Amino acid sequence: MPAHDVLIIGAGLAGQRAATAAADAGATVALLSKVHPVRSHSVAAAGGINAAINPADDWRSHAFDTVKGSDYLGDQDAIEIMCAEAPAEVMHLEHIGVTFHRNDKGELDLRPFGGASFNRTAYVADITGQALLHVLYEQILKYTEKVDRFEEWFVTSLILDDEGQCVGAVARDVRSGRMETFAAKNVILASGGSGQCYKPTTNALICTGDGMAQAYRVGAPLMDMEMVQYHPTTLLENGFLITEGARGEGAYLLNADGERFMEKYAPNKMELASRDVVSRAEQTEINEGRGVGDDGAGIYLDITVVPRKRTLEALREIVNIGKDFAGVDITREPILIRPGQHYIMGGVKTDINGATSIPGLYAAGEVACVSVHGGNRLGANSLLDTLIFGRRSGEHAAARAAVMPMPHVNDDALRSDSDMISEIIGRDRAGRRVSEIKEELGTEMNRNVAVFRDEAGLRHAHEVVRRLKEEAQSAYIDDRGTVFNQDVLGAIELGYMLDVAEATVIAAIERKESRGAQFRTDYPERNDDEWLKHIDISRNGDDTPDVFYSPVTITQWQPEERKY
Ligand SMILES: Cc1cc2nc3c(=O)[nH]c(=O)nc-3n(C[C@H](O)[C@H](O)[C@H](O)COP(=O)(O)OP(=O)(O)OC[C@H]3O[C@@H](n4cnc5c(N)ncnc54)[C@H](O)[C@@H]3O)c2cc1C
Repeated sequence: MPAHDVLIIGAGLAGQRAATAAADAGATVALLSKVHPVRSHSVAAAGGINAAINPADDWRSHAFDTVKGSDYLGDQDAIEIMCAEAPAEVMHLEHIGVTFHRNDKGELDLRPFGGASFNRTAYVADITGQALLHVLYEQILKYTEKVDRFEEWFVTSLILDDEGQCVGAVARDVRSGRMETFAAKNVILASGGSGQCYKPTTNALICTGDGMAQAYRVGAPLMDMEMVQYHPTTLLENGFLITEGARGEGAYLLNADGERFMEKYAPNKMELASRDVVSRAEQTEINEGRGVGDDGAGIYLDITVVPRKRTLEALREIVNIGKDFAGVDITREPILIRPGQHYIMGGVKTDINGATSIPGLYAAGEVACVSVHGGNRLGANSLLDTLIFGRRSGEHAAARAAVMPMPHVNDDALRSDSDMISEIIGRDRAGRRVSEIKEELGTEMNRNVAVFRDEAGLRHAHEVVRRLKEEAQSAYIDDRGTVFNQDVLGAIELGYMLDVAEATVIAAIERKESRGAQFRTDYPERNDDEWLKHIDISRNGDDTPDVFYSPVTITQWQPEERKY
């Protein structure tokens, strides 16, 4: 049985940064990922990473923009840490080899991004995530003594001991189907987001909320789950992302009347208002009949106003995406977009060191909720969140490991998970296909738990999720083999997505106000008197989620009206 000081589940940016930090602090590390690390979803990140690097900027300005962007739901102690530590983290990345874009003077170039009052987004063209992830992976390869890599291993559940401490996990080797128990003094969940609960989404097929559901199933609360970000610019036809970097470079939005309608909604920041504001503005234009495209369901994003040379240099990936997935040359004509599901602000509730309520269990990155994003994440703050809180989790888990013995872990969970997999593989074809249930879930979430929500729609979504949970119990798969059986993993992921979706719907029903990404047409105002608080969801024992509240940490910025 492998045994390590720190077991890290997920090898995207949060997981890899946690691994180097824990190893640098002296811990032995197992870094485990269901796909090859450089195929983690962080590779898709495009526009950049925020840091107040310019001497004329200040981390407090970054922090205030983040607090305002969060619609005052973000915890200000965590936001202060993230923004204050950002410049050093970006410089560290540069020193280990990330080739950030430089300006004519040879300084790090910083592009404008949504909701920011200063140009503070460092970038590598529009492949920033890929650049960061590959450089970190090169570093990980140097840690042969300290970091054991388990690539293409799928975690099926977390293990708690009799005292309720997290002491490891069970995982399946995707290549062979072999099950293994991993013992660890500490476990860090770095397993990313849950975008696949929606259809369409900008998120890859692997973003199925595994870590959120695994933590929830062992009793860790999920927080801010109602806060699901719709990105303003996703391709109308298929939901592919067109980076906010395009609007940062000067591209703008037009309705069917050729109007730059953002003048009405955010006269100061226009297209660079925060994402919730821009997405709502677009959806309002579409709903009121000023959309474009065949059925008026889209908006034009006009990138032709950006000098062609600059587009080809700084936005080259979306030039390819436009051509390959919409048949449009974005340097010559506007492209059809609409708001699309992109990110979840909620996740496993943690403190500022990534610790959850379960001793020995940490979480960092999109799986976690610290909460630095509150009701709405600013563009280019997620990569920062993964790295700052990935590092802090790694350091704290290593320190905890240094003063405790290796726990004794038995194979009970392994046997139970092996039985669960055999049961799925052995199902007859009486039920529905896993893929059908997933499709219905995504469509329902996109219909009723989207940019605009109301009680009736949310109640309907909850009924659908409950029914799909029942149907998932007998959902069947085709592949009965052991080698690369993605079918059976898909069935397990479906269970995770349904848990995450239910937590999202319940929290959205609970929050009877409009704040950040949660806009309730039946409660259209923000209501600080009653709702300036986090909604936490936990499952204790059975499949009935409990709802409770926790306070928002306010340090220096009292809530005020939010205008852009
Ligand atoms: C198209 C796109 C563009 C974006 N652009 C930006 C940007 O420019 N700037 C920005 O700040 N943010 C951006 N974001 C958001 C940002 O990329 C993500 O929030 C962030 O990269 C998530 O990193 P992570 O390390 O938390 O998770 P991921 O990178 O998603 O990694 C998750 C890891 O967990 C593993 N895993 C999951 N489940 C299991 C399991 N059951 N067993 C084992 N391993 C498992 C996966 O294999 C993977 O290694 C973008 C997002 C998208 C979708």
